Amino acid sequence: MSYSVDGIKRHRTVPVRIGQVVVGGDAPIVVQSMTNTDTADVDATVAQVEALARAGSELVRITVDRDDAARAVPRIRERLDARNVRVPLVGDFHYIGHTLLSRYPDCATALDKYRINPGNVGFREKRDRQFATMIEIALKHDRPVRIGVNWGSLDQELLARLMDENAALANPRTAEEVMREAMVVSAIGSAARAEAIGLGRDRIVLSCKVSDVQHLVAVYRSLASRCDYALHLGLTEAGMGSKGVVASTAGLAILLQEGIGDTIRVSLTPAPGGERTEEVIVAQQILQVMGLRSFAPMVTACPGCGRTTSTVFQELAEDIQGHIARRMPEWRETYPGVETMAVAVMGCIVNGPGESKHADIGISLPGTGEEPAAPVFIDGRKAMTLRGAHIAREFQEIVELYVKSRYGATRNAADARAADDPAQIAPGPAPLSPAAAD
Ligand code: SF4
Repeated sequence: MSYSVDGIKRHRTVPVRIGQVVVGGDAPIVVQSMTNTDTADVDATVAQVEALARAGSELVRITVDRDDAARAVPRIRERLDARNVRVPLVGDFHYIGHTLLSRYPDCATALDKYRINPGNVGFREKRDRQFATMIEIALKHDRPVRIGVNWGSLDQELLARLMDENAALANPRTAEEVMREAMVVSAIGSAARAEAIGLGRDRIVLSCKVSDVQHLVAVYRSLASRCDYALHLGLTEAGMGSKGVVASTAGLAILLQEGIGDTIRVSLTPAPGGERTEEVIVAQQILQVMGLRSFAPMVTACPGCGRTTSTVFQELAEDIQGHIARRMPEWRETYPGVETMAVAVMGCIVNGPGESKHADIGISLPGTGEEPAAPVFIDGRKAMTLRGAHIAREFQEIVELYVKSRYGATRNAADARAADDPAQIAPGPAPLSPAAAD
């Protein structure tokens, strides 16, 4: 189960299998991302998908916008498989998806899911025919779809009809309310059409992305109250830097707290030369700080104040964070459960011992005017006091020993169980799909 937080009742949805990853139902909330490479550039796309997967993205969407991109998809899948990167690939189609999927069956097979935007499928009778073609191809290849409605590409015919109906009401709703309603109607109506063609509810994920936090919350509350399709959450065009992180966190956190959302993406615009993987880390951190999933040990550090006139504790917090990041690839394999570890690095005696005791392992550094000693707390008890010029290195060594002794035991117990029951041992190296293993 992915939810361990008191007070959150998860909105019940139908689980959807996408490759080896399950979205919805009781499955952990899945982190996904999207490449920004030209999909026709196989080398660049393989490199970015691999980077996103290794950062923890459990689904990766790629743009399939033209023949060259569709032709590249099977080669991308092959190259990823050869590198043991099993992350499911989602094809993002607009306007000519029906043509590309029909013309390139190898592309349709190489993809694990198709994303269809009902606002960009076509117009009038063509829209229904082209939408039906994509659903029939999904049925033929036994693939799920995401029906992804976007504020910026809303079905204009539907919107015009709802606006006209609204204008005739005695108490008309605001234009924004009608637009939100149009998004929800478009998503649920398209899903119903897909079901009528033969696609099961367990093959459909819905999303309705907007770029405003309040609209996002209203739209998803409405969606969740009206259907049990698995829901993909994301604030579209969240923006750059801290604004993008804050806006995404604000919107997603409200909905996740209400139990809404089976998979999330944080749509950050990377700074020029910035890492695309940042959106994956932010999505993981949102889920982890809310207690919904664990991906890596969390370091709690106080913000510092007038009692910390040196930068020692900031440096130590940074050192420890860096040490954990460097060690995690090995720890993850060797010490199951290490991702739940809490580490505290505190700046003085005011909150230091209390917060350190609360963590699995913590250190309280001396503030200005305090005795130059740093008590270390392990599992709630003071274990030792560090002094001198090498506190940072010594604390890292203590953390390393703690990981070995606490989570090594978990590993030994798991090994012993597997020895009793060889069927528990998965053959071959583990694929990069943490959700499947959760
Ligand atoms: S723990 Fe001490 S140094 Fe850190 S913010 Fe609190 S009072 Fe300031």
